[in-house]
Amino acid sequence: MEGETKVVLLSGAAGGIGRAAALKFASTGAALALTDIPQDGLRETARLAGEAGAQVWAHTCDISLEDDVTGLIEGAVTRFGRLDIAVNNAGIAHEPARIADLDLATFQRMLAVNLTGTFLCLRAQTAIMREQGHGSILNVASLAGLVGAPLLGAYAAAKHGVVGLTKTAAAECARSRVRVNALCPSFADTAMVGAIASGMRGSADEAVSRLLAGIPMGRLASPQEIAEAIVWITGDANSFMTGQAVALDGGASAV
Ligand code: NAD
Repeated sequence: MEGETKVVLLSGAAGGIGRAAALKFASTGAALALTDIPQDGLRETARLAGEAGAQVWAHTCDISLEDDVTGLIEGAVTRFGRLDIAVNNAGIAHEPARIADLDLATFQRMLAVNLTGTFLCLRAQTAIMREQGHGSILNVASLAGLVGAPLLGAYAAAKHGVVGLTKTAAAECARSRVRVNALCPSFADTAMVGAIASGMRGSADEAVSRLLAGIPMGRLASPQEIAEAIVWITGDANSFMTGQAVALDGGASAV
């Protein structure tokens, strides 16, 4: 509740945007329920957040598995007694390929993690927050959830689905004082972009230059810049925003 320590559940916390968000929340005095699959990365984020003064509960979970998500949400509520903020940040991308060349298994995996995984988390989180009568949820989608993303068609399809879930959940939960928004970054400086670039033609530098061609600011976002937006969007100061898919894209969607 307002003024109290916030209980924050954050997925994809082992590195990248998730780790930056965990550390930013820790600096605000939040209590953290952190989750991911790679245990080493998750432990390291938990250690860093603990050093920053946060109470931390870290739990391994594959968000595409219903039983795992049930265990995660029950564990977090058992540990902290409530859930004030949830950031559904875990996600995967695929090797660049035209839709004509995408195999079905890749397409289904993108939906299973990015869309079904977000659905499973959102379903459990909205149930708890509606019951509490307060809460704030942020789904980390992508600019590829707002516009097409050549060579990333399966990823774009899943992230568009995340935006649709976000708007619907926001409308369903608004009277229960639960806000639900999505954040739509363009490319950020994390392992995910490194993997996308390495699957493109030419050197890694050339590939990143091509990714940046449509971004007026001409650079990647830092994970810390995205973490700042995550903390602000979910926070009490931003109390009238719900159902929004917010682009954080160096101007890409403006041109
Ligand atoms: P990242 O690869 O560093 O982080 C993603 C995390 O999600 C990883 O730690 C990974 O282990 C975890 N994850 C993957 N599948 C999972 C599963 N089934 N269950 C639980 N955890 C799982 O990349 P990132 O850039 O930090 O990505 C964070 C989010 O931001 C993702 O949703 C991504 O789609 C989104 N995003 C990233 C960019 C970018 O350019 N990096 C741009 C737009 C949106």
